[in-house]
Amino acid sequence: MREAVARLRDGRWLLAAIALAVLAGAVAIAGRIAAGQAAGELRDGALAALPLAAGTLTGEIEKQRLVPLVLARDDAVRDALRRAGKVEETALDAKLKAIAGDALASAIYVIDTAGIAISASNAGQPDSFVGIDYNFRHYFTDAMAKGAASQYGLGTISGKPGLYLAGRVDDAGKPLGVAVLKVELGGVEANWRASGFRVFVTDERGVVLATSQPDWRFHALAPLSAADAAAAHAQLQLDAAFEPLPIRRGAGDGLATIEEAGKSRRFVEVVQDLPGAVPGWRLWLLTPADAALTAAANTARLTTLLGLLLTGLLAYVLTRRRRTSRLRQEALARMNIELESRVSTRTAELTRSNTALAGEIAERENAEAKVRRLRDDLAQANRLSILGQIAAGVAHEINQPVAAIRTYAENAGRFLDAGKTEPASGNLTSIVSMTERIGAITSTLRSFARRPGVAASPLPVREAIEGALSLLSGRIRDSGVTIVKPHGTASPLVMASRIRLEQILVNLLQNALDAMKDRPDPRIEIDLAERDDRVLISVRDNGPGLGPEAAGNLFMPFQTTKEKGLGLGLVISQEIAQELGGTLRLDPDTAGGASFTIDLRRIE
Ligand code: ADP
Repeated sequence: MREAVARLRDGRWLLAAIALAVLAGAVAIAGRIAAGQAAGELRDGALAALPLAAGTLTGEIEKQRLVPLVLARDDAVRDALRRAGKVEETALDAKLKAIAGDALASAIYVIDTAGIAISASNAGQPDSFVGIDYNFRHYFTDAMAKGAASQYGLGTISGKPGLYLAGRVDDAGKPLGVAVLKVELGGVEANWRASGFRVFVTDERGVVLATSQPDWRFHALAPLSAADAAAAHAQLQLDAAFEPLPIRRGAGDGLATIEEAGKSRRFVEVVQDLPGAVPGWRLWLLTPADAALTAAANTARLTTLLGLLLTGLLAYVLTRRRRTSRLRQEALARMNIELESRVSTRTAELTRSNTALAGEIAERENAEAKVRRLRDDLAQANRLSILGQIAAGVAHEINQPVAAIRTYAENAGRFLDAGKTEPASGNLTSIVSMTERIGAITSTLRSFARRPGVAASPLPVREAIEGALSLLSGRIRDSGVTIVKPHGTASPLVMASRIRLEQILVNLLQNALDAMKDRPDPRIEIDLAERDDRVLISVRDNGPGLGPEAAGNLFMPFQTTKEKGLGLGLVISQEIAQELGGTLRLDPDTAGGASFTIDLRRIE
């Protein structure tokens, strides 16, 4: 485990190192590219400045170039040369001074054929050229030979550098001397310096002449060969070492590096020929590059760094977000699995409790069936007890017709013996009707004793009332009770099995008969009423009625005031009423006696 973490950590470090290396590389490359572009822009700027720098120089030279040629045709100059060295040329000196002033030349002077200056714009001054021997100067000898010449060099008297422009003065084909103008290029150089560029001119050997950097003058672009150095010495007529310029090139970036005061600074360098000035001259212009290149490179580096960092940050954020969402999805998946497992556990639990519940339900149904059976048994017991109670009455009911049958039969026998068939036949008919009556009584008893089927059917209420009264007919007659049956003939239908409704009625009638045992004029009123969809059958007696306490416990099992009572009659009757979808209740506030109402749903 620890090894794996270490490996992971190593991997991360390696990745970070690679990322850093790539970052550094990209930043460096961006810097280099930006520097290259900046150098290109600087080069464009330098190339644009080059003609201006060249124009400043060539303009200055061209302006002066004609002056010695014009002077060569000037009569005063000729005259002065004709009488060379014999008089002081003060008039010509003044004229030359005036021209030099106008042309902004540093000096104008006239040299005779012997090479001696006979007149000069600076005559009379301490640095006067008059009387100086210029025979050694190339511009003199060349002009004498070719008619015109130029030479860059240091002044013999002033020691200042300048360009000498010379023109031969002729007198009818015969040379009289040379007119010379010296242009000091200090103004041009100052102009170059002010432009902020480094500008210099080299001759055909690469020796620096005019320059914005005075200390570079007479240095060479590259070390001169011995022959070139000798030729340069001769040409420029000075004893210079022609040391190479402190400029290094070819570093690969197209830039020139200048080593100066122990520092190296980079420049963009451009060059062009100067055909209009002096043959072989070239103009060099260098523009400082360090600041621009560094700024461009730094900006590019910074931009690249920021860009890459931002990209990295973005990549990091995206990776992070993707990782977070992956983790979330994994967590969700885990939760899902957890949920599924919980659901299946719960389902199993539920299935178990469902099975248990089903078992309980079965048990309950079982118990209910038992209760129902018990109830049926009770009801049956109640009916059998009723039958027991009415047995004496029934025996009496049957004995009566049986005794009558015996009498009719004996009489019929006698009639037959006497040959009187007619009255015998009448007696037999009476016997038949008697047996029918007995049959009716026994069939009522049989059906009451039978266990009723569960199925109920539409039953006219009056039939049940008649049935109950008929079951108790013997007792009713013996007790001398007046029975008041429902008024009218209407017999609404209820959904009930006949035996059950009769059982309720028999119970109510028996209780009424019991209660009125010692009453002088016992009376039972049976009422039948219809209210909305209900049928109300009430049994009212004029017995002692029920006190509040007895009324409260009336439908409780085993509540009885009778010696041989069980206290189950009303309980069973109420249950039967409920089974039939109705109720059995004690009517409140009955004036004298008790009244019970069976309330059943009427069917159409
Ligand atoms: P049992 O007839 O076996 O006593 P019942 O449940 O039929 O059981 O009756 C319970 C008791 O209610 C009776 O003992 C009697 O005291 C009282 N009771 C019932 N009907 C009447 C009635 N019509 N008048 C007065 N008391 C009654």
